[in-house]
Amino acid sequence: MIWMTELLVVFCAVSFMLARKASRHLWVAATGALLVYWNLVHTPPLWPAMAAWLVFIPVAAVLLLTPLRQAIIMRPLLALYRRIMPGMSDTEREALEAGTVWWEAELFGGQPDWHRMLGYKAPALSKEEQAFLEGPTEQLCAMISDWDITEERHDLTAETWAFLKDNGFFGMIIPKQYGGLEFSANAHSAIVMKVASRSISAGVTVMVPNSLGPAKLLLSYGTEQQKNHYLPRLAKGQEIPCFALTGPEAGSDAASMPDTGVVCRQRFNGLDDVLGIRLNWEKRYITLGPVATLLGLAFQLHDPDHLLGQREDIGITLALIPTDTPGVEIGKRHYPMSQAFMNGPNRGKDVFIPLDWVIGGQAYVGQGWRMLMNCLSDGRAISLPALSTAAGKLVSRSVGAYAAVRKQFKVPIGKFEGVSEVLARIGGLSYIMNGARGFTTAALDSGEEPSVASAIIKYHLTERMRIVMNDGMDILGGCGISMGPHNFIARSYQALPIAITVEGANILTRNLIIFGQGAIRCHPFLFREMDAAANNDVDAFDSALLGHGSHAMSNASRSLFHSMSFGRLLHAPQHGLRGHFYRQFGRMSLAFAVITEITLMTLGGGLKRKESISGRLGDVLSYLYLGSAVLKHHYDNGSPDDELPLLEWACKDLLYNIQTRLFEVLNNLPIRVTARIARLLTFPLGKPYQRPDDALCQRVAEILMHPGALRDRLTEGVYIPDDDREPVAQLDMALHKAAAAEPLLHKLRIAMKNGKIARGDPEACLDAGLTAGVITEVEANIIRTAISARKVVIQVDEFEPEYFTKEQKTWGDSKLDGVAGRSM
Ligand SMILES: Cc1cc2nc3c(=O)[nH]c(=O)nc-3n(C[C@H](O)[C@H](O)[C@H](O)COP(=O)(O)OP(=O)(O)OC[C@H]3O[C@@H](n4cnc5c(N)ncnc54)[C@H](O)[C@@H]3O)c2cc1C
Repeated sequence: MIWMTELLVVFCAVSFMLARKASRHLWVAATGALLVYWNLVHTPPLWPAMAAWLVFIPVAAVLLLTPLRQAIIMRPLLALYRRIMPGMSDTEREALEAGTVWWEAELFGGQPDWHRMLGYKAPALSKEEQAFLEGPTEQLCAMISDWDITEERHDLTAETWAFLKDNGFFGMIIPKQYGGLEFSANAHSAIVMKVASRSISAGVTVMVPNSLGPAKLLLSYGTEQQKNHYLPRLAKGQEIPCFALTGPEAGSDAASMPDTGVVCRQRFNGLDDVLGIRLNWEKRYITLGPVATLLGLAFQLHDPDHLLGQREDIGITLALIPTDTPGVEIGKRHYPMSQAFMNGPNRGKDVFIPLDWVIGGQAYVGQGWRMLMNCLSDGRAISLPALSTAAGKLVSRSVGAYAAVRKQFKVPIGKFEGVSEVLARIGGLSYIMNGARGFTTAALDSGEEPSVASAIIKYHLTERMRIVMNDGMDILGGCGISMGPHNFIARSYQALPIAITVEGANILTRNLIIFGQGAIRCHPFLFREMDAAANNDVDAFDSALLGHGSHAMSNASRSLFHSMSFGRLLHAPQHGLRGHFYRQFGRMSLAFAVITEITLMTLGGGLKRKESISGRLGDVLSYLYLGSAVLKHHYDNGSPDDELPLLEWACKDLLYNIQTRLFEVLNNLPIRVTARIARLLTFPLGKPYQRPDDALCQRVAEILMHPGALRDRLTEGVYIPDDDREPVAQLDMALHKAAAAEPLLHKLRIAMKNGKIARGDPEACLDAGLTAGVITEVEANIIRTAISARKVVIQVDEFEPEYFTKEQKTWGDSKLDGVAGRSM
């Protein structure tokens, strides 16, 4: 029996030392002590004792003697590492190094400190920001008719443009000293969300000047002279900016742009021999381009005559070019998915610009890619996530109301289990989107520029928008499909591919960026190892690799322990169901860390080409991030009990998705034995998570179908018109009236059951109910108003046949001017 106790003690000690990342000195001391104990107490035969010491002594020497270890292990390993790891181009390195690493690094490390997360600032608005949201933003929404601008005018009205400029909508990120609004990221997001809930075209028009573009680049890199000249003009809308990176040959791979600038001297503005750049470019898809007065342009700069220095190929450079500069061709429009925001191509032929039009001046020539990458995360974390959340909230509110009032088979459609499952998905995903939006904007407002988190929420919120919009359309049926001024959803539905494609097309973002950048930036040791390998620095490599080994073994032992105990012994900052979810996300963070480690070991540099595995690991990191955001959002709200169904749906959905993706990774690892080890360490007792069950789905669906504080909280921040001719307002009214009528209809149903009145549709039995004294005249009128309100919201727009022939433009009537591409 004694040997069993001894074995247990050794097992516990080893597990504890692994989990606590014991130093190598302690490992040597403990193993040495164990050997001595074994020799003294058990007096083993000579040969096994000798063998044990012969293994122990060299291993201990390697662990303790750094020069020896480096000479016989680390140097050869470093050489191997340099051979097998793929090289990194400058543009890749600049993209990888951009921004900061934040909560996502905790999740990556496998040991998230929940108290730290709960201590992060909650998203908040200042009084001034709140007033702007309730004042000019509401006014703007009230003056927009999305149908008018997208169908009739194909542009915002002149009054709307003027209102946007006069009220500073284009200068939200510009500091007050330059005349801007200097709003927080959270306010910026809340404003875009409200406007986008009214009109995607107006939302995009507002978001673009505040995202990655001239203002952001000037604030980060502009010379004093450039800032003083342009920022006040941009803040007041005296300049309309656009930023042109994409061209016909350079889309996702924007760094490969063929647009060129050649350093030269030329006569300019009456002055001879001005040092500048001769530009030739072709760009497309540029938002605000057709109306821009100030064009931010990215191009490859060359200096064949060495006017700036020794380098001939200087690299990507950014400049600001007034669009009336000779040689600039701008103004034509693309037609993105029936939206009315300005978007179009622009070109330049031998356009000369003086060198001081380069953003940041001569000091920043060739730095363009780094500048873009560093400025990307703010806008990417704000614009499209806000637009997506707006869609989620609008669909939750309006489609929820529609499902409550629209009846088929004499029953509100939302009561059918099939529909309630879809409604629950809409509500749950909207809750996730809103949590992630606030979590990330609060990080930006704390000074972070989390590049991985910004890619996560760009990708995952736009993908959730896609699901929610599709679900919304399914529930609305013909009402969603029939276009017209009363259709509140179809234009947003049409805009989906835009959200998916811009600011990093989604397939690329998922498969190449989230995990690719996440693994290198968030992993506690990988970047250090790569740096050490790049610099051939054996000391740094040695220290990173030892740390890496200890980290990996600690996670493996902790993962096995916490998987066997179903995460019950992990620490959680809250109790009950909430605590359960903290523990499960903690457990999955460990599982992710272990499987990532094993995947990296199995595939090495080849992982770069295994986009599907990388995409799935990126999904897991993202679901962990979204889960954290949801828990934080709930905590910041004061952990109200009425929110529990939403929290539960969101967490169960995310945990189930984590499990699915991790199993997909394991199923696709090429070396099966490593996959089996990984599975043993992470899911030794099978799959613990299930999708939200039917009862939970119905509880969430009910939240969307009943007027109340929780429904209002879930959909807070979208524009609700107070004009009863507006469809979104009509749906709200119909829902309230239906809710008032429901108990009265119930009375009629009971009376039918009791035989007081004949059985049938209670709405058709009002007179019988009145005669039998089941309801009063006042109550009958409440039911009648509910019926009338429903009749209004189920109507769709109808058009005279002439509508479809008015001013019809055909391809045959258009001129093909043969410039570039296809022109109308
Ligand atoms: C409405 C609209 C507004 C825009 N506004 C601007 C603007 O203001 N300024 C600007 O510079 N640009 C703008 N763009 C351009 C936008 O950024 C690009 O459309 C985007 O980068 C994708 O390029 P692409 O459309 O050429 O698609 P491609 O690059 O041809 O990509 C096609 C598909 O291939 C996928 N893909 C490509 N490479 C990989 C890979 N390695 N791994 C996996 N998948 C990959 C992509 O994800 C995508 O699904 C806008 C685009 C649109 C549609």
